[in-house]
Amino acid sequence: MSDPAQARLDRLVADIRACRVCAADLPLGPRPILHVSTTARVLIASQAPGTKVHQKGLSFWDASGDRLRDWLGLDKAVFYDTAQVAILPMGFCYPGRLPNGGDCPPRPECAPLWRDRVLSHLTGLRLTLLIGGYAQRHVLGPGAMTDRVRDFRRHLPGVFPLPHPSWRTGVWEARNPWFTTEVLPALKAEVACALGMG
Ligand code: SF4
Repeated sequence: MSDPAQARLDRLVADIRACRVCAADLPLGPRPILHVSTTARVLIASQAPGTKVHQKGLSFWDASGDRLRDWLGLDKAVFYDTAQVAILPMGFCYPGRLPNGGDCPPRPECAPLWRDRVLSHLTGLRLTLLIGGYAQRHVLGPGAMTDRVRDFRRHLPGVFPLPHPSWRTGVWEARNPWFTTEVLPALKAEVACALGMG
């Protein structure tokens, strides 16, 4: 017999997958990508899909995902096990590209419309990873990403701010060696504990 709470979440996800609210502004059209279950213990609050993720339909199916999995100490089997790890971007659809080559911000319509409704079903969460400035501003308000990551202990237990794991972050990591020596070991320990692997 299916779990009624999960069935309610599945109905909401079906509504999201049919969403066309900002279709006119999406260069590749709507393809909402999120991975959620009522039992997930870790939430990855991310930004928005890139083109590879849009094509595959799987969050972090790219080099950013490899870097993030390395940071978290998780292999793909656990990372993509929705019963343990939920992935909820601030914008569910690929938002397009800026003239400078970077991706556009997450569509502003998306989080106000869907985010809290999804979160209300994720009752098993123990740890939320705020990936990048958009998720951090939404949850924590204005503030500098580097300062927040350096002061990660201030947000524990329950919330862990992180930079976006894009290739650009390699330069940032080299400039901020404390990220590798202090933040990543603590992050791995928090994730393992939240997942009951510690
Ligand atoms: S980005 Fe969000 S609001 Fe816009 S079409 Fe996709 S699911 Fe709907």
